[in-house]
Amino acid sequence: MSKILEIFNTMEYGPAPEAPDAVKAWLDEHGRKFGLFINNEWVMPKGAKFYSSINPSNGELLAETTQAGQKEVDAAVAAAREAFGTWSKTPGVTRARYLYAIARNLQKHSRLLAVLESMDNGKPIRESRDIDVPLLARHFYYYAGWAQLMETELRDYQSVGVVGQIIPWNFPLLMLAWKIAPAIAMGNTVVLKPASYTRLTALLFAEIVAEAGLPAGVVNVITGSSSAGSMIVEHPDVDKIAFTGSTDVGRTLRKQTAGSGKKLSLELGGKSPFVVFDDADLDGAVEGVVDAIWFNQGQVCCAGSRLIVQENIAAKFIQKLKNRMQHMRVGDPLDKSIDMGAIVDQSQWDTIDGWVKTGIAEGGECFQPNIALPEKGLFYKPTLITGLDAAASTVQEEIFGPVLVSLTFRTPSEAIELANNTRYGLAASVWSDNINLALDVASKIKAGSVWVNCTNQFDGASGFGGYRESGYGREGGREGLFEYLRPTWMDRPRPEFSVNEKWGGHVPTLPSQPTTARANGHSLPPIDRTPKMYIGGKQVRPDGAYTSSVLSAKGKLVGQVGDGNRKDIRDAVEAAHKARTSGWAMRHGYNRSQILYFIAENLDARNAEFVKRIVEMTGRTQKSAQAEVDASVERLFTYAAWADKYGGTVQETTLRGITVAVNEPMGVVGIACPDENPLLGFISLMAPAIARGNSVVIIPSQKYPLSAMDFYQVLDTSDVPGGVVNIVTGDRDHLVKTLVQHEDVDSVWYFGSAEGSYHVENESAANMKRTWTGYGLPRNWMSREQGEGHEFLHEATQVKNIWVPTGE
Ligand code: NAP
Repeated sequence: MSKILEIFNTMEYGPAPEAPDAVKAWLDEHGRKFGLFINNEWVMPKGAKFYSSINPSNGELLAETTQAGQKEVDAAVAAAREAFGTWSKTPGVTRARYLYAIARNLQKHSRLLAVLESMDNGKPIRESRDIDVPLLARHFYYYAGWAQLMETELRDYQSVGVVGQIIPWNFPLLMLAWKIAPAIAMGNTVVLKPASYTRLTALLFAEIVAEAGLPAGVVNVITGSSSAGSMIVEHPDVDKIAFTGSTDVGRTLRKQTAGSGKKLSLELGGKSPFVVFDDADLDGAVEGVVDAIWFNQGQVCCAGSRLIVQENIAAKFIQKLKNRMQHMRVGDPLDKSIDMGAIVDQSQWDTIDGWVKTGIAEGGECFQPNIALPEKGLFYKPTLITGLDAAASTVQEEIFGPVLVSLTFRTPSEAIELANNTRYGLAASVWSDNINLALDVASKIKAGSVWVNCTNQFDGASGFGGYRESGYGREGGREGLFEYLRPTWMDRPRPEFSVNEKWGGHVPTLPSQPTTARANGHSLPPIDRTPKMYIGGKQVRPDGAYTSSVLSAKGKLVGQVGDGNRKDIRDAVEAAHKARTSGWAMRHGYNRSQILYFIAENLDARNAEFVKRIVEMTGRTQKSAQAEVDASVERLFTYAAWADKYGGTVQETTLRGITVAVNEPMGVVGIACPDENPLLGFISLMAPAIARGNSVVIIPSQKYPLSAMDFYQVLDTSDVPGGVVNIVTGDRDHLVKTLVQHEDVDSVWYFGSAEGSYHVENESAANMKRTWTGYGLPRNWMSREQGEGHEFLHEATQVKNIWVPTGE
């Protein structure tokens, strides 16, 4: 009796260990030594080198795993390539059966997977059993559905090819599911490399998939170090790289794949805000914090690691949080009643500890609860650091451990400012009982997932991914499919170019030598039109006061344009930002569509003038120029139509509540136009961007820029607010170089040369901006299939998923 009373008083739990026997038996069955899984077979390379997989909670050696080298990477890619031939042609309904079989089989082996995951990674069995593994199966069910529907719902798309997938150690099974399920559903084949610290569950998964009957070569798992990852990235026969990991490695991969024509999606790091307003349910929010930062020992990309609390409740909230921390249990991951398990590796433990020391050195006050840790193993106490400045490195950098920093705010706008004061943009959590306030803040935080009065919600039906330096591309949901699809008309680009390190340099243009004299001595010279740029809704002279001449196909002078420089681009970016923040993105779609219709109307009214200009510049026939102008008017109608029809969807997730995917604008989009179709190319790129609420800095065709310069008069008369469209003429590569290097440009679209595409992608790595390049390949702008539609809208937007639970 007294014992029961004692338990009630202390609320102490006894240990509830999960048995590791089945895992041990599986490891023993493999002799505790694993080869690589290629073509549904275990391959042990001759003279293989090994890596020791260790249980971080007790230091026990679990098994030896192979270090793949170039030969093995080649073999895995070859297996995937061969399998791609048949798998991509296998009907979607058949692929759906395979994915369904995989999901069933994963459920049958769910406990084995969960226990192994906890032993290999150190995460609590409560999490691996109740979150990681159920979500693993869920993703295969969800994407089995998309395989079933692909032929009817995604008719304009085809598989991409062989996909190299590289994942981190924090959610080994879940990351694998996010990547493999959509890839194979869409007919691709895969070479996956798990992180070194956590290789074992990917190997067990491979075996389970083969047992489910998946054809050989569709999924290959190779273990190895970062150099094996690099070999996958560089492999010429890999068509797409999907990477989840740190922003620094993401940057390296962007550079490595630049100009190659490989598709790339990057799910990177984060430093996500957890915002608590004074009217929030504070006890609920405290539990939210526990889940946000101490889930998986804080080794979570979207961990709510920056607590931002309203000042008037901050002291009370922090006290409640500290009280809660005193009751956290840290211990054996296989104990079903612990809150936090072990840190994955000693080096990670050291990094975390280093950050805590930095936080203290930066003036922070560190709180750790007075709780016992196991004597052995890599355990770390839940940690809270208060009193730091918003600019402190501990507040800005991803710690990737159980360390929470906290800041305070007074007003909602200050909360938003603090929340966005980061180079990342992966996730956010907002707590308030005022739904209007919470949703307003959710819409203003720049992040791919925002959880209102909840945190860390995931589901196959909802996309996940970053803004800014948290990467690009989405995993999960319908939006996640497009990472593994290519339009049917498009082959895998294989651009050929050589790299000139002086790319983007430019000597201002000298006076031209037209073959036909401008004045013949008998007639008056034409009245000169001073070449201008169009910035902030005004015609402005080029900063450098240099001018270039535009000659016709026969060498006759047809006009002049300003020769833009870095300063012109910077001014244009500033104007674009002003237009954006002054509300273009906030205007409703109806209003934007009216403006696009108005542009179309005014362009059509000057139809003949534009036709004449295209004929003059390009030497094309009247008929062909007329077709281009007509198509341009038509295209404006297309995006007037799309301006109020691409807002997003309600996702059918497992949350009791609402998950809305909002297609938000990218922000400021820099665009370099192609030379073919000087008017239509320009409009095909400008119109989708502004229809979806972006403001643009656009470099018209370098060879035939005059149509764009005539077009600004159309813009002037069409109610387009100043700064929404900014036009800078000049040397395309010189100007785009400044655009891609500019910190305040969110995305760059480039339709110049193959070499230019390489440089744009390579330079974009500096702040991980999203790019869309044409690799110097032809595109038929006149065709609706290639010149408009979903591909353009997709590039003009980024998906934010907002999760709102409902009910009392
Ligand atoms: P990491 O060091 O970037 O490694 C990730 C993966 O890339 C591992 O498989 C690693 O192999 C491999 N790799 C490392 N260098 C490489 C290179 N040069 N070329 C090719 N592959 C290379 O990241 P991590 O420490 O494992 O994971 C933590 C990071 O992942 C955090 O920043 C976290 O925020 C992020 N993350 C993001 C998401 C998301 O969805 N956005 C989800 C989870 C985690 P080795 O292990 O063999 O070195």
